[in-house]
Amino acid sequence: MTTKTDLKNLTLPALEQFLQGQGKERFRALQVFKWIYQQDAYSFDEMTNISKALRKELDETAFISNLEPEAVEQGNDGTRKYLFPLADGNSVESVLIPIEGRNTLCISSQVGCAMACEFCLTGTFKLTRNLTTAEIVNQIMAVRRDLIRNPPALSLDAAGIIDDEDDDDQADSPAAIRNIVLMGMGEPLHNLDNVIPAIQIMIDGNGLQLSNRRVTVSTCGLVPEMGRLGREIPNVNLAVSLNATTDELRNRIMPVNRSYPLKELLKACKEFPLPGRRKVTFEYVMLGGVNDTLDDAKRLLKLISDIPNKVNLIPFNEHEGCEFKAPTRKSIDAFHKYLIDRHVTVITRDSRGGDISAACGQLKGKLEKK
Ligand code: SAH
Repeated sequence: MTTKTDLKNLTLPALEQFLQGQGKERFRALQVFKWIYQQDAYSFDEMTNISKALRKELDETAFISNLEPEAVEQGNDGTRKYLFPLADGNSVESVLIPIEGRNTLCISSQVGCAMACEFCLTGTFKLTRNLTTAEIVNQIMAVRRDLIRNPPALSLDAAGIIDDEDDDDQADSPAAIRNIVLMGMGEPLHNLDNVIPAIQIMIDGNGLQLSNRRVTVSTCGLVPEMGRLGREIPNVNLAVSLNATTDELRNRIMPVNRSYPLKELLKACKEFPLPGRRKVTFEYVMLGGVNDTLDDAKRLLKLISDIPNKVNLIPFNEHEGCEFKAPTRKSIDAFHKYLIDRHVTVITRDSRGGDISAACGQLKGKLEKK
């Protein structure tokens, strides 16, 4: 038995190769690709500019996968959390964050995560498996469908997950997805073989037509893979979860630091190819009484000062079974002010989606502790 190929695992050039391998004309790939991503075709039957005979042939060797949410929860702030069951019984979550009428979608890259950061709920479940390219792009496509049926009411507060630097003052349609952040479950740089083609499909003008300026990959600091990402997809935005300003603390709370200590990580940030005036986003989870003093702020500033930077402060979201505590309002404000006063671009993320466990570090799908 030959298994059928899921076409959503293929970038446009890979689809060309696949069809050429079956003796089909090259232009067929573009037709099929557009049907999939622009018309959201579920089956070859819908592809009316392709002959019936060819559609039948395609149907024998290939298929088009999709995800359907099993549950959609909406938080008080308009944040929506989607639970997607996968074909093998696993599941992942995605989070939609509407900010001032612009939608940011946070997607997952793995079931579970191998990085074992001490403060992160997803990390406590270990890695079950990588998501396929299709499963990554299908999170976006499923949310796009939900947005068309069910556009969010405008949410007016701006303090959020992402600051729009390329603000062009154009209103998006309420159903459009503006930003994609790979900040859900998993470490995207631990699954680059599938993440890179997924991003290529996202930014392909014939695919999901997102601007590469609006796709952000977040990493805990896999240094060699940062190099590969920069080489293979120049122009994508990089976010780095720094979270500590000394190797001693970072070794303890983020085991990845034992392989790639701060010095190497910051060197990789410096070398990352960022076009124009763009900056590396440094995420900093504030853990009450652990990394939230002005001395930490001072060291943070020193570490990142020779890299074009902006800082995302994320007050720790508490979850069961984790010892860490949220920082006090006072320490958040003081940390924030220290950086602002020294001309750093800082955003303190208000905890979005906390009431539906959709906030940073709270995603788990249906994982059970192993
Ligand atoms: N693995 C990638 C992508 C996940 S992004 C990475 O580490 O960057 C998820 C972000 O949420 C990371 O910045 C992480 O440090 C942060 N985070 C994890 N657990 C958290 C928690 N309980 N509260 C607040 N932020 C958390």
